[in-house]
Amino acid sequence: MSDSPRDGWDFSTRAIHVGQDKDPQTGAVVPPLHLASTFVQPGAGEWGAFDYSRSGNPTRLAFETTLASLEGGTKALAYASGMAAIHGAMMLLEAGDHVLAGRDVYGGTYRLLHRILDRVGITVTLADTTDLSALENALTTKTKLLWLESPGNPLLTMTDLAACSEWAKEKGLLVGVDNTFATPVLTRPLELGADIVMHSATKYLGGHSDLLGGALVVQDKDLFDKLYYIQNATGAVMGPLESFLCSRGLKTLSLRVLAQSKTALALALWLDQQPEVARVLYPGLPSHPGHAIAQQQMEGAYGAMLSFELKAGFAAAQRFVESTELFQLAVSLGAVESLIEQPASMSHASYDAEARAKHGIHDGLIRLSVGLEAETDLRADLAQALQKATSVGS
Ligand SMILES: *Cc1c(COP(=O)(O)O)cnc(C)c1O
Repeated sequence: MSDSPRDGWDFSTRAIHVGQDKDPQTGAVVPPLHLASTFVQPGAGEWGAFDYSRSGNPTRLAFETTLASLEGGTKALAYASGMAAIHGAMMLLEAGDHVLAGRDVYGGTYRLLHRILDRVGITVTLADTTDLSALENALTTKTKLLWLESPGNPLLTMTDLAACSEWAKEKGLLVGVDNTFATPVLTRPLELGADIVMHSATKYLGGHSDLLGGALVVQDKDLFDKLYYIQNATGAVMGPLESFLCSRGLKTLSLRVLAQSKTALALALWLDQQPEVARVLYPGLPSHPGHAIAQQQMEGAYGAMLSFELKAGFAAAQRFVESTELFQLAVSLGAVESLIEQPASMSHASYDAEARAKHGIHDGLIRLSVGLEAETDLRADLAQALQKATSVGS
């Protein structure tokens, strides 16, 4: 276990050393994987640092400690999945409470809010989080939580997290930010006024498409205590193996995110020049409506997610996503392998068609998660897919 985060260290040093002290018993440089479900107590009714793995596990705590430091928080909680983490945060609410969320909120969050939480009397309004007056209009006397994502999914919408947090504070709302896309390498929402940062650790934190996990990070002790109580009472904790793999993933997080972002920018510029492409959505392009916010809110790069639309529409987009070789046709994102998908039929299938249309998620939209492969190979893959997708007679 680590002492308090060593604030003087740079991000990349903390990613390797905070919470990851050598094993005192053996000197092992990498803290061991603790699979034990239960821990011997010093005496009846006396409690050691750990007692039962749902309530706390050393391998999980190591990951939580590192992540809290990287996000500029004091404490983190690791969950079985990103959805379990979001659910844990939403359980702060009570029947009758209202949630304000972005209109291109992650599909699973949309489903949780509209199909599960509505059953217990929690209501939701989706609003354009790039427009404070739209938030103001959607505010009710019952609103308790503002849930933000930046960049948004799949349109890479940029929300001004500092401005929204300031507005929400005036209204007495709690602010949660799903920071899965940006990662703490590029954006740290707690420093911008958010109360809770959420991650699907399945994505960039793990980074290798080999685990499911989620996390919440906070600064406030009371808020942490409430979330911990809910997590321990409901039980969706991250397993030790996943925690171990997440700690391993964090060590290369900044290297991966910066390298993948650099390739994403190059591919976005290239796609933007192709006559068959109607528009490219990437926060790093000056043409993106959120570019100015991205410049101030994302540090050093613009992320490795990008979307684009083919002029030819649905059938061509479908042919495109089925024609790439390096870009694998799969949902998920954030790993070393590049992935491609069609939001309308895959990641956002849990939105109904009307909601998709209303929120600008066209059938012909294609989303890329740019991995760590060479940019030249990825570009060649997109070029051959573009050829196949658009040369076939309609
Ligand atoms: C994947 C994802 C989630 C859900 O996480 P799981 O680990 O799949 O449960 C939430 N938000 C965003 C932005 C995601 O990409």
